[in-house]
Amino acid sequence: MVNSQVDLTEQVSIVTGASRGIGRAIALSLGSTGLKVVVNYARSSTAAEEVVQSIIDKGGKAIAVQGDVSKTEEVDTLIKTTLEQFGRIDVLVNNAGITHDTLLVRMKLEQWQEVIDLNLTGVFLCTKAVTKLMLKQKQGRVVNIVSVSGQIGNPGQANYSAAKAGVIGLTKTVAKELAGRGVTINAVAPGFITTDMTKDVKSQDIIKFIPLGRYGMPQEVAGMVRFLATDPAASYITGQVFNVDGGMVMA
Ligand code: NAP
Repeated sequence: MVNSQVDLTEQVSIVTGASRGIGRAIALSLGSTGLKVVVNYARSSTAAEEVVQSIIDKGGKAIAVQGDVSKTEEVDTLIKTTLEQFGRIDVLVNNAGITHDTLLVRMKLEQWQEVIDLNLTGVFLCTKAVTKLMLKQKQGRVVNIVSVSGQIGNPGQANYSAAKAGVIGLTKTVAKELAGRGVTINAVAPGFITTDMTKDVKSQDIIKFIPLGRYGMPQEVAGMVRFLATDPAASYITGQVFNVDGGMVMA
């Protein structure tokens, strides 16, 4: 477990999809704690290198590693590169995600499959590979970025909601499987956050459903992730879903 006895500068994290948006904010936030950060990305190499440079400029350590986390061999390379560069993995943040929105009646199998492959299977692949190492270390923390869409549904997002609800189920099951070995796994469910993913969503239609009356910022999601991934006070929390959504979902 990452705890008060452990120097965070000796700990290593992987953040998938960290070149932009919420993943970028998570990488910067973890990097500011001293944790070494592997900034994974699929295509945006320049943006990923900028995230790495920002962490290094503030005295941290980071590298960028390209890899499509929906593909087994690329996940294997991501893990191998991390171990070669930093020697261990203590924190995994499964953040990479995409949307292909359309109503179910118009949804093509490819649109369904692509979203499931990255948003659900990608989480399975990374979590399986990393927790194997965490079990041996008898410590580690995994944080999965899900969505309010996986909790309450959202028209046009049958693929995305199914994937995110699947990750919530995975989180709870894996939490029970790993709890005895000091490894925790939790999920963070953002509402509407200002990133490239939401830039085409008409905000006036959405804001009436957000009690706090505005979109969230990536840093507001990153704060919760950082707490779960690094704070000693989070050591007794596992299998939970935390909403960072301006009050959209109140269970
Ligand atoms: P974003 O701005 O579109 O960024 C997506 C990130 O994922 C990018 O860094 C992208 O890398 C990476 N990525 C895409 N395909 C990938 C792949 N196959 N392998 C590895 N990385 C890949 O999205 P965001 O809004 O920050 O969303 C981040 C997470 O939060 C997602 O899981 C999303 O579902 C979730 N979320 C977002 C919101 C929201 O309102 N924004 C709400 C709820 C949940 P490249 O730049 O290299 O393509």
